[in-house]
Amino acid sequence: MQITFWGVRGSYPVPGAATVRYGGQTSCVEVRTAAGECVIVDAGTGMRQLGNKLAREANGQPSQYHVLLSHVHWDHIQGLPFFSPAYIPGTRISVYALLTAADELNQVIGGITRHEFFPMPLEAVPAAFDFHQVEPGVDFVVGGFHITPIALNHPFGSVGYRIDADGSSVAYVADTAPFDKVLHKQHFLAGPEPLSADDQVALTAMRDALVARLRGVDTVIYDTHFLPDEYERFPHYGHSTPDQALVICQEAGVRRLVLYHHAPGHSDEQMDQVAATYLAKGAAIGIEVLTSFEGMSLPIGAG
Ligand SMILES: [Zn+2]
Ligand SMILES: [Zn+2]
Repeated sequence: MQITFWGVRGSYPVPGAATVRYGGQTSCVEVRTAAGECVIVDAGTGMRQLGNKLAREANGQPSQYHVLLSHVHWDHIQGLPFFSPAYIPGTRISVYALLTAADELNQVIGGITRHEFFPMPLEAVPAAFDFHQVEPGVDFVVGGFHITPIALNHPFGSVGYRIDADGSSVAYVADTAPFDKVLHKQHFLAGPEPLSADDQVALTAMRDALVARLRGVDTVIYDTHFLPDEYERFPHYGHSTPDQALVICQEAGVRRLVLYHHAPGHSDEQMDQVAATYLAKGAAIGIEVLTSFEGMSLPIGAG
Protein backbone atom coordinates (compact mmCIF):
# COMPACT_ATOMS: atom_id res chain seq x y z
CA MET A 1 0.00 0.00 0.00
CA GLN A 2 0.89 3.62 -0.40
CA ILE A 3 -0.68 6.51 1.53
CA THR A 4 -0.64 10.14 0.41
CA PHE A 5 -1.61 13.12 2.53
CA TRP A 6 -3.69 15.74 0.67
CA GLY A 7 -4.70 17.73 3.76
CA VAL A 8 -3.18 17.53 7.24
CA ARG A 9 -4.84 20.40 9.17
CA GLY A 10 -7.66 20.29 11.66
CA SER A 11 -10.55 22.72 12.13
CA TYR A 12 -10.23 25.03 9.10
CA PRO A 13 -7.93 25.64 6.12
CA VAL A 14 -4.96 27.93 6.71
CA PRO A 15 -3.25 28.74 3.43
CA GLY A 16 -0.56 31.42 3.61
CA ALA A 17 3.07 32.21 4.17
CA ALA A 18 3.19 30.57 7.64
CA THR A 19 2.04 27.14 6.40
CA VAL A 20 3.77 26.72 3.04
CA ARG A 21 5.81 23.65 3.99
CA TYR A 22 3.33 21.61 6.07
CA GLY A 23 0.30 22.82 4.12
CA GLY A 24 -2.99 24.50 4.98
CA GLN A 25 -5.67 22.11 3.64
CA THR A 26 -7.87 20.07 5.97
CA SER A 27 -8.04 16.31 6.49
CA CYS A 28 -7.80 14.01 3.47
CA VAL A 29 -5.67 10.89 2.94
CA GLU A 30 -5.48 8.64 -0.13
CA VAL A 31 -4.81 4.93 0.47
CA ARG A 32 -3.82 2.93 -2.58
CA THR A 33 -2.98 -0.73 -3.19
CA ALA A 34 -0.15 -1.94 -5.43
CA ALA A 35 -2.84 -2.87 -7.97
CA GLY A 36 -4.06 0.75 -8.03
CA GLU A 37 -7.27 0.37 -6.00
CA CYS A 38 -7.98 3.41 -3.84
CA VAL A 39 -9.97 4.51 -0.80
CA ILE A 40 -10.12 8.12 0.34
CA VAL A 41 -10.20 8.80 4.08
CA ASP A 42 -11.95 12.04 4.98
CA ALA A 43 -13.11 14.71 2.58
CA GLY A 44 -11.57 17.91 3.92
CA THR A 45 -10.40 20.66 1.59
CA GLY A 46 -7.36 18.58 0.60
CA MET A 47 -9.79 16.40 -1.36
CA ARG A 48 -10.01 19.03 -4.12
CA GLN A 49 -6.42 18.47 -5.30
CA LEU A 50 -6.79 14.70 -4.98
CA GLY A 51 -9.94 14.92 -7.12
CA ASN A 52 -8.07 16.82 -9.80
CA LYS A 53 -5.43 14.08 -9.91
CA LEU A 54 -8.03 11.29 -10.02
CA ALA A 55 -10.00 13.08 -12.76
CA ARG A 56 -6.83 13.33 -14.85
CA GLU A 57 -6.20 9.62 -14.31
CA ALA A 58 -9.82 8.84 -15.27
CA ASN A 59 -9.35 10.84 -18.48
CA GLY A 60 -13.05 11.67 -18.71
CA GLN A 61 -14.18 8.09 -18.06
CA PRO A 62 -16.55 7.29 -15.16
CA SER A 63 -15.19 5.34 -12.22
CA GLN A 64 -16.18 4.38 -8.67
CA TYR A 65 -14.71 6.08 -5.60
CA HIS A 66 -14.97 5.09 -1.93
CA VAL A 67 -14.83 7.77 0.76
CA LEU A 68 -14.50 6.81 4.44
CA LEU A 69 -15.54 9.68 6.72
CA SER A 70 -14.37 9.84 10.32
CA HIS A 71 -17.26 12.19 11.14
CA VAL A 72 -19.01 15.11 9.50
CA HIS A 73 -17.39 18.14 11.12
CA TRP A 74 -16.66 20.73 8.42
CA ASP A 75 -12.91 20.09 8.23
CA HIS A 76 -13.70 16.49 7.19
CA ILE A 77 -16.35 17.10 4.49
CA GLN A 78 -15.81 20.51 2.90
CA GLY A 79 -13.81 19.15 -0.04
CA LEU A 80 -16.56 16.80 -1.22
CA PRO A 81 -18.51 19.37 -3.33
CA PHE A 82 -15.22 20.29 -5.07
CA PHE A 83 -14.21 16.70 -5.91
CA SER A 84 -13.98 16.94 -9.70
CA PRO A 85 -14.71 13.26 -10.56
CA ALA A 86 -18.22 13.94 -9.17
CA TYR A 87 -18.84 15.96 -12.32
CA ILE A 88 -18.03 13.09 -14.71
CA PRO A 89 -21.36 11.47 -15.71
CA GLY A 90 -21.60 7.81 -14.74
CA THR A 91 -19.25 8.17 -11.78
CA ARG A 92 -20.31 6.48 -8.55
CA ILE A 93 -19.23 7.77 -5.14
CA SER A 94 -19.80 5.56 -2.10
CA VAL A 95 -19.59 7.41 1.22
CA TYR A 96 -19.18 5.57 4.55
CA ALA A 97 -19.71 7.24 7.93
CA LEU A 98 -20.83 6.82 11.50
CA LEU A 99 -24.18 8.54 11.97
CA THR A 100 -27.27 8.07 14.03
CA ALA A 101 -30.50 7.16 12.27
CA ALA A 102 -31.87 10.65 12.95
CA ASP A 103 -28.94 12.20 11.16
CA GLU A 104 -29.03 10.56 7.75
CA LEU A 105 -25.80 10.95 5.83
CA ASN A 106 -27.47 11.99 2.59
CA GLN A 107 -29.22 14.80 4.52
CA VAL A 108 -25.88 16.01 5.87
CA ILE A 109 -24.06 15.89 2.55
CA GLY A 110 -27.15 17.13 0.72
CA GLY A 111 -27.38 19.90 3.33
CA ILE A 112 -23.97 21.39 2.52
CA THR A 113 -24.89 21.56 -1.16
CA ARG A 114 -28.34 23.16 -0.61
CA HIS A 115 -28.88 26.03 -3.01
CA GLU A 116 -28.25 28.66 -0.32
CA PHE A 117 -24.72 27.32 0.15
CA PHE A 118 -23.64 25.90 -3.18
CA PRO A 119 -24.66 26.42 -6.83
CA MET A 120 -25.35 22.76 -7.56
CA PRO A 121 -27.54 20.63 -5.27
CA LEU A 122 -26.44 17.05 -4.61
CA GLU A 123 -29.25 15.57 -6.74
CA ALA A 124 -28.05 17.60 -9.76
CA VAL A 125 -24.42 16.43 -9.49
CA PRO A 126 -23.71 14.02 -12.40
CA ALA A 127 -22.16 11.34 -10.14
CA ALA A 128 -24.45 8.94 -8.29
CA PHE A 129 -23.88 8.89 -4.53
CA ASP A 130 -24.63 6.03 -2.18
CA PHE A 131 -24.33 6.28 1.59
CA HIS A 132 -23.38 3.59 4.07
CA GLN A 133 -23.60 3.76 7.85
CA VAL A 134 -20.63 2.11 9.54
CA GLU A 135 -20.63 0.55 12.98
CA PRO A 136 -17.55 0.32 15.21
CA GLY A 137 -16.26 -3.24 15.33
CA VAL A 138 -18.28 -4.38 12.29
CA ASP A 139 -15.75 -4.97 9.52
CA PHE A 140 -16.51 -4.54 5.84
CA VAL A 141 -14.76 -5.06 2.54
CA VAL A 142 -14.23 -2.57 -0.27
CA GLY A 143 -12.50 -4.24 -3.23
CA GLY A 144 -9.12 -5.42 -1.96
CA PHE A 145 -9.42 -3.47 1.32
CA HIS A 146 -10.54 -4.99 4.61
CA ILE A 147 -11.83 -2.15 6.80
CA THR A 148 -12.43 -2.09 10.55
CA PRO A 149 -14.23 0.96 12.02
CA ILE A 150 -13.07 1.94 15.53
CA ALA A 151 -15.11 4.12 17.95
CA LEU A 152 -13.32 7.31 19.05
CA ASN A 153 -13.88 9.91 21.76
CA HIS A 154 -15.02 13.12 20.07
CA PRO A 155 -18.01 15.45 20.50
CA PHE A 156 -20.98 13.61 18.96
CA GLY A 157 -18.73 10.71 18.03
CA SER A 158 -16.09 9.92 15.44
CA VAL A 159 -14.80 6.71 13.95
CA GLY A 160 -11.27 5.64 13.09
CA TYR A 161 -10.43 3.04 10.45
CA ARG A 162 -7.98 0.18 10.36
CA ILE A 163 -7.36 -0.63 6.69
CA ASP A 164 -5.74 -3.92 5.70
CA ALA A 165 -4.61 -4.63 2.14
CA ASP A 166 -1.58 -6.00 0.28
CA GLY A 167 -0.62 -7.98 3.43
CA SER A 168 -0.12 -4.87 5.56
CA SER A 169 -2.21 -2.33 7.45
CA VAL A 170 -2.60 1.34 8.21
CA ALA A 171 -4.87 2.95 10.81
CA TYR A 172 -6.47 6.38 10.67
CA VAL A 173 -7.31 7.68 14.14
CA ALA A 174 -8.99 11.11 13.90
CA ASP A 175 -10.62 12.93 15.54
CA THR A 176 -10.20 11.80 19.11
CA ALA A 177 -9.53 13.03 22.61
CA PRO A 178 -7.81 10.75 25.11
CA PHE A 179 -10.11 8.47 27.06
CA ASP A 180 -10.21 9.99 30.51
CA LYS A 181 -12.11 13.29 30.47
CA VAL A 182 -14.49 13.72 27.61
CA LEU A 183 -17.55 11.74 26.68
CA HIS A 184 -17.90 11.02 22.99
CA LYS A 185 -21.57 12.05 23.04
CA GLN A 186 -20.89 15.22 24.98
CA HIS A 187 -21.63 18.60 23.47
CA PHE A 188 -18.63 20.82 22.81
CA LEU A 189 -20.01 23.69 24.93
CA ALA A 190 -20.77 21.43 27.86
CA GLY A 191 -17.07 21.13 28.64
CA PRO A 192 -15.54 18.28 30.58
CA GLU A 193 -17.77 17.00 33.34
CA PRO A 194 -17.07 14.54 36.13
CA LEU A 195 -17.58 11.08 34.69
CA SER A 196 -20.10 8.66 36.13
CA ALA A 197 -18.96 5.10 36.80
CA ASP A 198 -20.83 3.99 33.64
CA ASP A 199 -19.13 6.69 31.55
CA GLN A 200 -15.74 5.62 32.84
CA VAL A 201 -16.47 2.00 31.95
CA ALA A 202 -17.56 3.06 28.43
CA LEU A 203 -14.46 5.17 27.86
CA THR A 204 -12.14 2.45 29.14
CA ALA A 205 -13.81 -0.06 26.82
CA MET A 206 -13.38 2.37 23.91
CA ARG A 207 -9.69 2.81 24.69
CA ASP A 208 -9.14 -0.96 25.07
CA ALA A 209 -10.84 -1.61 21.73
CA LEU A 210 -8.67 1.02 20.02
CA VAL A 211 -5.46 -0.49 21.40
CA ALA A 212 -6.60 -3.99 20.39
CA ARG A 213 -7.42 -2.86 16.83
CA LEU A 214 -4.05 -1.11 16.46
CA ARG A 215 -2.08 -4.27 17.34
CA GLY A 216 -0.02 -5.38 14.38
CA VAL A 217 -0.70 -2.22 12.39
CA ASP A 218 2.28 -1.01 10.36
CA THR A 219 1.57 2.75 10.48
CA VAL A 220 -0.86 4.74 12.63
CA ILE A 221 -2.05 8.21 11.57
CA TYR A 222 -3.25 9.94 14.76
CA ASP A 223 -5.02 13.20 15.67
CA THR A 224 -2.25 15.11 17.47
CA HIS A 225 -3.83 18.54 17.19
CA PHE A 226 -2.62 19.86 20.53
CA LEU A 227 0.62 20.44 22.33
CA PRO A 228 0.35 19.44 26.00
CA ASP A 229 -0.28 22.98 27.35
CA GLU A 230 -2.96 23.59 24.69
CA TYR A 231 -4.68 20.35 25.58
CA GLU A 232 -4.89 21.38 29.23
CA ARG A 233 -6.77 24.54 28.21
CA PHE A 234 -9.16 22.85 25.77
CA PRO A 235 -9.63 19.21 26.80
CA HIS A 236 -13.28 19.28 25.66
CA TYR A 237 -12.39 20.14 22.01
CA GLY A 238 -11.95 16.42 21.36
CA HIS A 239 -8.31 16.18 20.24
CA SER A 240 -5.10 14.57 21.49
CA THR A 241 -1.42 15.41 21.92
CA PRO A 242 1.52 13.51 20.40
CA ASP A 243 2.39 12.25 23.90
CA GLN A 244 -1.08 10.70 24.26
CA ALA A 245 -0.76 9.12 20.81
CA LEU A 246 2.65 7.69 21.73
CA VAL A 247 1.21 6.01 24.86
CA ILE A 248 -1.54 4.33 22.80
CA CYS A 249 0.92 3.26 20.07
CA GLN A 250 3.40 1.91 22.62
CA GLU A 251 0.69 -0.18 24.28
CA ALA A 252 -0.38 -1.52 20.88
CA GLY A 253 3.20 -2.30 19.79
CA VAL A 254 2.97 0.02 16.78
CA ARG A 255 6.28 0.76 15.06
CA ARG A 256 5.39 3.95 13.17
CA LEU A 257 3.22 6.93 14.19
CA VAL A 258 2.31 9.80 11.88
CA LEU A 259 1.30 13.08 13.57
CA TYR A 260 -1.78 14.50 11.84
CA HIS A 261 -4.69 16.99 12.07
CA HIS A 262 -2.32 19.80 13.05
CA ALA A 263 -3.76 22.82 14.86
CA PRO A 264 -4.41 25.59 12.32
CA GLY A 265 -2.43 28.09 14.39
CA HIS A 266 0.81 26.08 14.28
CA SER A 267 3.27 27.69 11.86
CA ASP A 268 5.89 25.81 9.84
CA GLU A 269 8.52 26.79 12.44
CA GLN A 270 6.38 25.43 15.29
CA MET A 271 5.72 22.25 13.30
CA ASP A 272 9.48 21.80 12.78
CA GLN A 273 9.88 21.90 16.56
CA VAL A 274 7.03 19.43 17.09
CA ALA A 275 8.54 17.11 14.47
CA ALA A 276 12.01 17.18 16.05
CA THR A 277 10.74 16.84 19.63
CA TYR A 278 8.57 13.81 18.92
CA LEU A 279 11.00 12.15 16.53
CA ALA A 280 13.37 12.00 19.54
CA LYS A 281 10.66 11.00 22.06
CA GLY A 282 9.48 8.22 19.76
CA ALA A 283 13.00 6.96 19.05
CA ALA A 284 13.56 6.60 22.81
CA ILE A 285 10.74 4.01 22.97
CA GLY A 286 11.30 2.38 19.58
CA ILE A 287 8.58 4.20 17.61
CA GLU A 288 9.38 6.04 14.40
CA VAL A 289 7.45 9.34 14.56
CA LEU A 290 6.82 11.20 11.32
CA THR A 291 5.02 14.52 11.03
CA SER A 292 2.63 14.64 8.09
CA PHE A 293 2.74 17.42 5.54
CA GLU A 294 0.67 18.06 2.43
CA GLY A 295 1.95 15.92 -0.41
CA MET A 296 3.75 13.42 1.85
CA SER A 297 3.57 9.90 0.44
CA LEU A 298 4.53 6.80 2.42
CA PRO A 299 4.86 3.13 1.53
CA ILE A 300 3.09 0.86 4.05
CA GLY A 301 4.40 -2.56 4.91
CA ALA A 302 7.62 -4.43 4.26
CA GLY A 303 10.07 -2.47 2.18
ZN1 LIG B 1 -11.24 17.62 12.65
ZN1 LIG C 1 -14.07 16.91 14.66
